[in-house]
Amino acid sequence: MKKIISNWGNYPTIEADIFEFQQIHHLIKSKQSFTLRGLGRSYGDSSLGERIVDTTKNRYFLHFDEEKGYLTCEAGISLAEILEVFVPKGWFLPVTPGTKFITIGGAISSDVHGKNHHKEGSFCKHVVSMEVLLASGKQIECSPTKNVELFQYICGGMGLLGAIKTATIKLKKIETAYIKQITYKAKNLEEMLTLFHQHEDSPYTVAWMDCLATGRNLGRGILFTGDHAKLEDLPLELRDKPLEIPKRRTLTIPFYFPSFVLNPLVVKIFNFLYYHTSFQLGKPQIVDYDHFFYPLDSLLEWNKIYGKRGFVQYQFVLPKENGLDGTKHIIEEIAKRKMGSFLVVFKVFGNPNKIPQEGSKKVIEFPFSFPKEGYTLALDFPLQPELEELLSKLDEIVIKYNGRLYLTKDARMKKEMFYSTYPVEDFLRVKKKYDPQNQFTSLQAQRLGLITN
Ligand SMILES: Cc1cc2nc3c(=O)[nH]c(=O)nc-3n(C[C@H](O)[C@H](O)[C@H](O)COP(=O)(O)OP(=O)(O)OC[C@H]3O[C@@H](n4cnc5c(N)ncnc54)[C@H](O)[C@@H]3O)c2cc1C
Repeated sequence: MKKIISNWGNYPTIEADIFEFQQIHHLIKSKQSFTLRGLGRSYGDSSLGERIVDTTKNRYFLHFDEEKGYLTCEAGISLAEILEVFVPKGWFLPVTPGTKFITIGGAISSDVHGKNHHKEGSFCKHVVSMEVLLASGKQIECSPTKNVELFQYICGGMGLLGAIKTATIKLKKIETAYIKQITYKAKNLEEMLTLFHQHEDSPYTVAWMDCLATGRNLGRGILFTGDHAKLEDLPLELRDKPLEIPKRRTLTIPFYFPSFVLNPLVVKIFNFLYYHTSFQLGKPQIVDYDHFFYPLDSLLEWNKIYGKRGFVQYQFVLPKENGLDGTKHIIEEIAKRKMGSFLVVFKVFGNPNKIPQEGSKKVIEFPFSFPKEGYTLALDFPLQPELEELLSKLDEIVIKYNGRLYLTKDARMKKEMFYSTYPVEDFLRVKKKYDPQNQFTSLQAQRLGLITN
């Protein structure tokens, strides 16, 4: 079936043949190349290609080990479906990104991070094992102890080594479906970093930043911290049903906004008003998990706000030692050009994912996964003629400060930048071993030179 399709940024938009997950065996046997796709919440072209295999019908729960909290499920199931079934039973995802409308396959392939990276690492650290269908047609298990190299590169490997069919992930126990949230204001970037440092014991931290503020206010923003509320933290009226939250009303954006709506003045006014909103500062507030983790999910199809041309999200990470200077440099560049973004999310990443291997001194890491210990900023920009010039300038700064861009958000990185910031040679060696004929492909992989013949 042919379809016009794009991912969350609505850029690029392409025409593709869409296949059901069961048809993957036929594609493999007939030596056709294809791209795996979950819920298309990556922003750019990582799950786009000429032939797309839709994994979202591969979505059954298979087993739950209540003692260990190990959930085995098919990889096309969404985080939303998992939460709906398991929160009422007192379990939560170990790591979650800012939307629950993603699949387990997408979460592993992007090795997504959440607001708890500084404490818990990213998603794949909590993956116990997975069943992967390879280009050879064989299905094999990989885990931190079995087929370890495949496991390490599938995590963050953007669907290019095999199809994840099932996964076992470790859920965590919760007493209530609520979060104890505390809000703080930072006058500038230095103050923001001090606040993050002061609250590094808090399980969840994330900040919004005003990327148009300059001078003494550069990097000002609002920090949100959170922790799972205990039963005794809840007001009396919520204690009867601590694991149930009222269904939220959602609003669907009905049409693509015209491009003049998001002009720089509107962003400046929005940033000013948001920064000066009278948040209840420094005091715990009880909010439900949906409100805390997924504020944007109540506005369905909010990507249409950026207009028909679409938008890109630019997310970089800078290592800790260069983080302050590099982040300042980048915000200055954006403010100077008055090309601010509404959605500016700033986080501190902790130590990279490291899992001690059972029975040996070896440590498992995920070389292709995006996070590094340091600072990450994600900014949305509507597509417009001057954008590429700004982003190329930002690329130079990211390279200078030894950082890199997040593949799942990327739609335009140049191959040279990719090769100089990711361990591409190692990835290609593993790719050759498991998929020598490049059957697992994507537009992104072709653009970035991961598909070489
Ligand atoms: C509002 C919003 C907020 C977000 N917040 C965050 C955040 O806080 N942190 C973060 O890390 N990310 C965040 N993201 C990005 C999102 O979590 C990732 O892009 C995620 O991978 C999307 O999953 P998906 O199921 O939609 O996969 P898709 O976008 O369809 O695919 C993503 C990648 O996974 C591969 N893939 C999909 N299924 C399989 C499979 N079964 N086997 C092998 N490969 C597969 C695809 O080929 C592709 O390379 C956010 C996205 C949105 C829209």
